[in-house]
Order: sequence, then structure tokens, then C-alpha cells
Amino acid sequence: MKHIARKRFGQNFLIDTSIIDRIITGINPQKNENLVEIGPGLGALTCPLLSIAGKLDVIELDRDIIPKLNRNCGDRGELIIHNQDVLSFDFSSLATDHKKLRIIGNLPYNISTPIIFHLVKFGHIIQDMHFMLQKEVVNRLAAQPGTSSYGRLSVMTQYHFRVAPLFLVPPESFDPQPKVDSSIVMLKPHQHPPVSVTDEAAFSALVKQAFAMKRKTLRNTLKSLCTVQQLETTGINPSQRAEEITIKQFADLSNLLSTS
Ligand code: SAM
Repeated sequence: MKHIARKRFGQNFLIDTSIIDRIITGINPQKNENLVEIGPGLGALTCPLLSIAGKLDVIELDRDIIPKLNRNCGDRGELIIHNQDVLSFDFSSLATDHKKLRIIGNLPYNISTPIIFHLVKFGHIIQDMHFMLQKEVVNRLAAQPGTSSYGRLSVMTQYHFRVAPLFLVPPESFDPQPKVDSSIVMLKPHQHPPVSVTDEAAFSALVKQAFAMKRKTLRNTLKSLCTVQQLETTGINPSQRAEEITIKQFADLSNLLSTS
């Protein structure tokens, strides 16, 4: 029986076998790796991943799709299904001392940004991540200061991960077709952060506040956190907006505030 895609779960199923092959080749999964898939759906990526790796953990919120997933891929290997919301999933429950996680997912686009912010917390147990995302979100992940796509997501992701956009995927590769173009991106945790931050919670709070009102100057948006003089000490012109500030400048300002 055909599954009726549920909009509220962001269900756009991959049907283009050449794209599926390209994604799997890009991931290059190996037997006995610690692979985890977010949102397996009907198994477009799950089946080939499971066939190669022999074992796969998947996190799927839609209870009704699980029997279909099992029917499609269950005989390919050891498929461990966590019927849970990925946003509250504890990824540390899957990591072992020897094997970091390789996370994969054609993500539900409606919650892709919260998923990435959730995963930032588990960077230390992640080997790499390959995601299908809305093209605009990949542009935001990889954006540089001074561009319209640059924002909190760019700063926080690039602080934790190397961001490598891989290739574009057109709407025709899905059923139902999304209204937007998609893109595959690879995120790999840095071994050493690109800039030094003394208090990560304070850095995160500063970046959040700076971008809360993107159009306003930092003199205004950061009024409650720092003085104009502190901005100037770190080489920031108080009339600049958050979208002009580099990760290094955010780190320098955060470090200055942590010591004063
Ligand atoms: N992997 C399949 C494919 O490529 O055809 C399905 C991808 S579909 C874009 C997103 C999947 O994520 C759906 O199976 C959906 O039910 C699931 N999903 C949506 N919200 C979720 C959540 N909060 N936690 C876990 N899975 C979720």
C-alpha cells in the first residue's frame, strides 16, 4: 500500500536512484562503522546503508511508517529503530569509546536548523555528518561575513564544524516534490576550534543576542552585554551589524567580556 506523505513530518521521499547512489558514494560507509540515520522514512538511504554496514541505528518520529521501513529494509542487516523525536534524542547513548558516530539524514526541512543546533552539543562524539537540506540552509551554514546568508547558524556551525557543500539536488528527485532546491552538505567536527573561546556558553549567548535583531547596530543589540568601549577594544565598530562580524571578532569580544 502506498504511504501518504505527511507534511507535518517534512516527508519528501528520495526516489532518484542516481542521487541516492551519489549520496552513498559520498558517505563511503564501511562495515562495522557506527552509522546513525535521522528520519529513515521508507528507507531510500537506509536500505543501501544497511546492506553495506550490516548494522544501522535510525531515529524516526512517525510511528506509522516504521512497519513499512522494516518491510523495505529489515532483512538487509541489524536495523535498530528508535521511535523518537530527534530533537530530544541523546546521541551519546549510541557512541562507544572506540567508535564515533557517522550521522546521515535527508532531514525534515521544517526542523533542520534546530536539529543542527541540537547536534552541536554532541560534536565530541561525532566523526562526520552528511545531510540533505534546503539549498538556502546549506548556503547559510557555509556563509561568510558580509553576505546576506551569514547569521547565527553560520557562526555556530563553523565554530564547531568544517562545512563542505557537496552537490545540488533538484525537486524532481523527491516524491512529493519540495518547492525548494536541495543540497547535500558534509559537516565534520574540528579537531581544534578555529578560534579560541574561553567560555562557550557565553560565546553562544553573545552570538544569539547579536543576531536577534540583524538590522540594528551592535551598539544597540549588545547594549545589555557590553559597552561601546569594549566593542572598540576588539576592533568592532559599534555602528556595524552582526552580519559583518567575523567568528574571530565574536570570540575576542566574548573572551574580553568573560575576563572583565
Ligand atoms: N530518509 C527518507 C528519504 O530520504 O526518502 C525520508 C526523508 S524525509 C525528508 C524526513 C524524515 O524524517 C521522515 O521520515 C519523517 O517522518 C522524519 N521525521 C520528521 N520529523 C522528525 C523528528 N522530529 N524526529 C525524527 N524523525 C523525524
